[in-house]
Amino acid sequence: MAAVAVLLKAGYVSGAAVADDGEVLGRHRENYPVGPGSSGPQDDDLTAAVVATVRALRAPGQRSTVGLAFEPLVGHVPRLRHALEHVQEQVHLETAARAAAWGEHRFGVLRGIQAPQNSMTVTVGASIRGGLILRGRLVRGAHGLGGEIGHLPFVPGGRQCECGLEGCFDRYASATALVERTRAALIETAEVGQRLALDVRNGPIDEVASEIVRAAVNGNESALGQTAEIGRHLGMGIGRLVKPLSLSGVVLRGSFVDDAGDILLTPAREAMSRTVGQSTDLELRAGLPGDDAVLLGVTDLSLNAH
Ligand SMILES: [Zn+2]
Repeated sequence: MAAVAVLLKAGYVSGAAVADDGEVLGRHRENYPVGPGSSGPQDDDLTAAVVATVRALRAPGQRSTVGLAFEPLVGHVPRLRHALEHVQEQVHLETAARAAAWGEHRFGVLRGIQAPQNSMTVTVGASIRGGLILRGRLVRGAHGLGGEIGHLPFVPGGRQCECGLEGCFDRYASATALVERTRAALIETAEVGQRLALDVRNGPIDEVASEIVRAAVNGNESALGQTAEIGRHLGMGIGRLVKPLSLSGVVLRGSFVDDAGDILLTPAREAMSRTVGQSTDLELRAGLPGDDAVLLGVTDLSLNAH
């Protein structure tokens, strides 16, 4: 049996037809226009892109099971579900971060780790999102926020967060934090190269973060330092959770992690080890590249009740 997995991203829909053993049978990507500012996509455009993706991937003439993974800011999820059910698809909804955690657990870099199967998969982007698996089960929690670690207190009395609290993890260890740190450093010092300086002052967070990471990969000292600092914060924050949750697997993933690689992962690993202290051979792993963990995870969740 196969299912169609769909991931909603800002500006595009990524889909795959996936067999129940995790084999990807086909892929499809559909762009949709995103409105200016924060108005987001029009419902009709997003719905049309999702329906087109499902139709491109399902077996001809057959009703499919659809796993729909979304990032909370994309929104419009209830209407999408309605639209898909209108074309007679069974729809399973999951946050992209939790789908990714399940994908890493079942088919990705956490597959086969020793019991107890307690793991945390952290998706790093403009925000930090998490997925938690305890004793082999995905934790959704009483309020649907299970595994969401972005707003854990990280620095007492620290930077103001849009959630209303101060010092959240998100404000120190996300791609947004990297961009803000780099912009602040540009104001305080003139040490960053001119090309980088011009490129990071404006633009969407994801694109600017990619630009900084690219500069770091190319050896720009300031960009390297800023990216490493984000890695240290990630390792420190995740490390604090290792013992309380008795984690036997920890994954960092997302396109930001894919792009930065060891520039981010090495300081994150060192900081996590220091934070956890002795007694651990726990490895901080890089997740499957791209969106595959999400697509494989949401497929399995849609085909099997977990
Ligand atoms: Zn917050």
